[in-house]
Amino acid sequence: MQGYPIRRMRRLRKSPEIRGILAAPPPSPANMIWPVFIIPGKNKKIPINSMPGQFRWTTDTVLPQLEKIAKIGIGGIMLFGVPEDSGKSDDGNLALGSGNPVLKAISLIRKEIPSIAIFADLCLCGYTRNGQCGIAGADGSPDNARSLEILSKTGLAYAEAGAHGVAPSAMMDGQVCEIRKSLDSNGFSDTLIMSYSAKFASSFYGPFRDAASSAPHGADRSSHQLACGALDQAVMESILDESEGADILMVKPALPYLDVIAKTKEATRLPLAAFNVSGEYSMIHAAAERGWGNLLDMARESLISIKRAGADIIISYWSDRFNDIFQK
Ligand SMILES: [Zn+2]
Repeated sequence: MQGYPIRRMRRLRKSPEIRGILAAPPPSPANMIWPVFIIPGKNKKIPINSMPGQFRWTTDTVLPQLEKIAKIGIGGIMLFGVPEDSGKSDDGNLALGSGNPVLKAISLIRKEIPSIAIFADLCLCGYTRNGQCGIAGADGSPDNARSLEILSKTGLAYAEAGAHGVAPSAMMDGQVCEIRKSLDSNGFSDTLIMSYSAKFASSFYGPFRDAASSAPHGADRSSHQLACGALDQAVMESILDESEGADILMVKPALPYLDVIAKTKEATRLPLAAFNVSGEYSMIHAAAERGWGNLLDMARESLISIKRAGADIIISYWSDRFNDIFQK
């Protein structure tokens, strides 16, 4: 290969015109999913202190906001329920009934804003008293079989409410298979499963737990979520979820796991989502507030990196500011 002085890579970067024709396409708003926290009641929009610019919404207050993001072309939303603490129990049954604000939100949003794809996060940690992702067994960690039962029922409830897709995030073995069976045998064979196939036990979820009141009260999630360095297990989890019938796979978090996104993309031809989590969002806000970087520039670089690593879909709190970030 010819090097310098024949090969001069800077020729490709010298002028804005040349940089322009070589620019990689930025993420499209159509590929973005905005995570939304839904609380019970009416007429409330509560700021989340640890996530500047993000709120907990009642269904009536989130509708106008969803209209706005639909107008800028954001493709979807991921709904998280934040029910009253008083209804929480050890078995997470709260997820199935009227105490789960997501069920009502799904049907209303489906009716009012038909252009947006609705996914419902499917886990029990927001609904169990101890904040565990499943029903705790004798050792405190989720009992796999018992947790699958309630997860399947909850998934079915979301499908019945009208969700385009359910997004199991409990990292229970066999969850995709069980949820698929339950959806199919009840007439919901067209409901998608977007599986959180590779979800890591991460320190970057802190602000989310504040937002969703789902902090594990002494419950350890490392018995089901992946350890930070477990690259091969992460890819294997996605391959298994594909074989169980997942339609879309996911890596969560995104930025500290860009290599996992890239390796997963090589291992499968299914669409791949990446969850740009609360900590990734909030630390950029924190740095920008201190004057240590430009907020929108750092957000743009994050989103482009996640796309470059191979994500087809980006789930991100930046979605509602997409036009500011990409200056459209
Ligand atoms: Zn969970």
